[in-house]
Amino acid sequence: MILIWGWKPYLTLLATGNLVCARCHNPAAHRLHRLRKKFTLFWIPLFTTSTRYYLDCTFCGLQSTLTEQDAERCTAQLNASAAPQQPGPPPYGQQAPPPYGQQAPPPYGQTPPKH
Ligand SMILES: [Zn+2]
Repeated sequence: MILIWGWKPYLTLLATGNLVCARCHNPAAHRLHRLRKKFTLFWIPLFTTSTRYYLDCTFCGLQSTLTEQDAERCTAQLNASAAPQQPGPPPYGQQAPPPYGQQAPPPYGQTPPKH
């Protein structure tokens, strides 16, 4: 019987955003990656054997390794820096159009038309 086993790396981009680089001191885009190494049996990934987090600067290419706690904090910081500054559209369900056949209520201060 032949057993075919090994490891396969899985790289995931967790977040992207602007940070001030520790080496080049530019407010450049940084990418936070998670690298998981998985044990495979017959090319099927079974379980994760190691997890590492990398933060790299897209300006100078500095790559630094982070702990899991630092990576979580960094993800929140990157998502906050990448979020738009203006408020987005209202959540789904608010300001929905009136059902078919009904009219929207008139603006405040106006009387509805009499038929
Ligand atoms: Zn840099």
